Amino acid sequence: MIIVMKNQATEKQIEEVIRWIESLGFTAHPSRGVECTLIGVIGDEREKEGLKQAQFLEGVEKMIPILKPYKLASRESHQGNTVISVGTVKIGGPDFVVMAGPCAVESEEQLLESAYIAKKGGAQILRGGAYKPRTSPYSFQGMEEEGLKLLDQVRTRVGLPTITEVINPADVDLVESYVDILQIGARNVQNFPLLKAVGHSRKPVLLKRGMMTTIEELLMSAEYILAAGNPNVMLCERGIRTFETATRNTLDISAVPVLKSLTHLPVIVDPSHAAGQWKYVIPLSRAAVAVGADGLLVEMHPKPEKAVSDGAQSLKPEKFYQMMDEIRVLSSAVRH
Ligand code: PEP
Ligand code: MN
Repeated sequence: MIIVMKNQATEKQIEEVIRWIESLGFTAHPSRGVECTLIGVIGDEREKEGLKQAQFLEGVEKMIPILKPYKLASRESHQGNTVISVGTVKIGGPDFVVMAGPCAVESEEQLLESAYIAKKGGAQILRGGAYKPRTSPYSFQGMEEEGLKLLDQVRTRVGLPTITEVINPADVDLVESYVDILQIGARNVQNFPLLKAVGHSRKPVLLKRGMMTTIEELLMSAEYILAAGNPNVMLCERGIRTFETATRNTLDISAVPVLKSLTHLPVIVDPSHAAGQWKYVIPLSRAAVAVGADGLLVEMHPKPEKAVSDGAQSLKPEKFYQMMDEIRVLSSAVRH
């Protein structure tokens, strides 16, 4: 249910409506726009009857049911686009944001070199996994807390904010103390305890689409995070599994405009895990800008041939610089 406040409703009236919603055992999710304030009401569907009284409260214009199953993620419940601030970087606003770096944090030298390259190329955020969900238990599993400490150094020594994956609800507190954005990987898109755990975090979350999740399922997963109280969720299309074997996955480029029409959350494209091969990453990145994505999550490594994880799909520095140059030209034509 959405409660639409009158455009001249006072802050006090808004606060009173919120208190009233909470007294009925629901949670209130206000969205303050220029015109008016919307208050999303979330809770047990079966208890909805009592909410009807809201129309008699002072300052209330009307009530509208939200028809979509993803209530807070839907465009109906929010005015305009969600813009997520990470330091001075804004994701979901006019700028196209690039998060670049290696698949895995491997060493201090590798990570800092990657961060300097990312910064020089114009990326705004450094990516790197400290906990790696690998298909094989014999593959490198990540540097864990040592890796997180190196990511922390990127913030202080290079001055770039960071994103890393968290794979276990018990690690959320630790991970969020070292990095700026929490990544939920494709394999964990429906790990509901993990979604709730990052929903309680104060850090923004990048939620990847699973290789077999529909757009609606992805939005329902985002809903878990939003419903737990974290409004800063961005979605990431990273390729889905199809019959095609020429690429690692199939980048569902149409998911971008579909998501942009259904939700106010920022949409990011990961061309690396979609393609599986570096030579397709630049063309897919161009497509991401053209189709209206808000940014990229892209793998880049100072020496891809030495990478312990996903070297084949990682851009080497010169290709990364080329991609950034192309994106700059394209996004200035498309976005402003
Ligand atoms: C990654 O970003 O390195 C990763 C493991 O991605 P995904 O969850 O999309 O496979
Ligand atoms: Mn990877």
